[in-house]
Amino acid sequence: MNNNHIARRMQQVRPSPTAAISDRVRELEAAGRRVINLGEGELDFATPQPIAYAGIAAIIGEQTKYTAVAGTASLKTAIAQKFLRDNQLTFTHSEIIAGSGAKQLIFNALLATVDPGQQVIIPAPYWVSYPDMVAIAEGEPVIVPCHEAHGWKLQPDDLAKALTPQTRWLILNSPGNPTGALYSMDELRALAEVLSDWPNVMIMADDIYEPLRYGGAAFTTFAAAAPELAGRTLTINGVSKSHAMTGWRLGYAAGPAWLIAAMQVLQSQSTSNPSSISQAAAEAALVQPPTFLAGWIDKLEQRQQRVLTMIAEIDGMSARAPEGAFYVFANCQGLIGRVTPAGDVLEDDRAVAAWLLAESGVAVLHGSAFGTPGYLRIAYAINDAVLDEACLKLAAAAATLRQAEK
Ligand code: PLP
Repeated sequence: MNNNHIARRMQQVRPSPTAAISDRVRELEAAGRRVINLGEGELDFATPQPIAYAGIAAIIGEQTKYTAVAGTASLKTAIAQKFLRDNQLTFTHSEIIAGSGAKQLIFNALLATVDPGQQVIIPAPYWVSYPDMVAIAEGEPVIVPCHEAHGWKLQPDDLAKALTPQTRWLILNSPGNPTGALYSMDELRALAEVLSDWPNVMIMADDIYEPLRYGGAAFTTFAAAAPELAGRTLTINGVSKSHAMTGWRLGYAAGPAWLIAAMQVLQSQSTSNPSSISQAAAEAALVQPPTFLAGWIDKLEQRQQRVLTMIAEIDGMSARAPEGAFYVFANCQGLIGRVTPAGDVLEDDRAVAAWLLAESGVAVLHGSAFGTPGYLRIAYAINDAVLDEACLKLAAAAATLRQAEK
């Protein structure tokens, strides 16, 4: 073994493709290029001021010491109220944990419960981190492809085929990253029916995009749709996307007390409590009415329309309107096989994304990163004028591609 030995468990882990694209953007910018990043998974809106001031008040008021590992009692009360108000779910404090982002809580839940070789069902397209987190836990990610024709949603038959005695978890993300797919009550119930035959399987409902929905679409979380399975459901949420607070790193989870206790043990030996300042701000976020939300949704809806119009104008691309979140997952299969002005053939979605970045200076993420080749994820939560410029540049670049000669 050399002194630069990297642990074996790391061999299964890829660096996050979203971080990789941001690094590439910074490289190009350092070289003097103007680059527009449509790869970023965060809102461009500022954290609403009353929430930010609650954070400042926490600093001035010396709420700057360690807190209980799983979060302060008053934050837990605010989280419980949120679940009751928005989801009609009742949780006690021992069934709730706050962490440094939803990401940490998902990671801890998997690490606390997955033994080597156990399987975690992940519908694709998926959020990039799920499979790698399962791999770090030495579990086996079981990727179940979902289809555009089904609104990108997991079908009960496909779930039934994927379940085995080794299955430990099913991960459901609604509204979903990267497709914006939103599961209805009936769709969740149909999945619950399949799961009722598998009492050892846990369900993780990642609701991080919950309030970001379009056209007044209703939201149902899995534990509310299937109360009979609530005892084996972990509901994940956080303020990153709901309140434009990605940098504050504050997420929360609610589920059976035995699981929350195990996650708390892991957290107590790694990061301890999430930032006390962020906890105070998140508490304010959860108790105050979201007066800013309607304005945000309006803005996001207009931006989504802008992107969909651009895509409709590009020969070789298409997309369905997402029901939630702030991404368009666009089919780019018609661009694959086309030839660039320099004479290169675009072999796959990775090549399309790489070429678009080099040619137009606009960064988007290839669908392969989400387990679904042939697509591009376009994040539209950026400034209107910049998004407009990006759309014009993408369309202009795509127009220079020609069909390969037969
Ligand atoms: N879950 C999904 C589906 C996400 O897209 C993200 C962030 O992009 C997260 C969880 C992580 O959120 P947090 O910032 O709370 O860690």
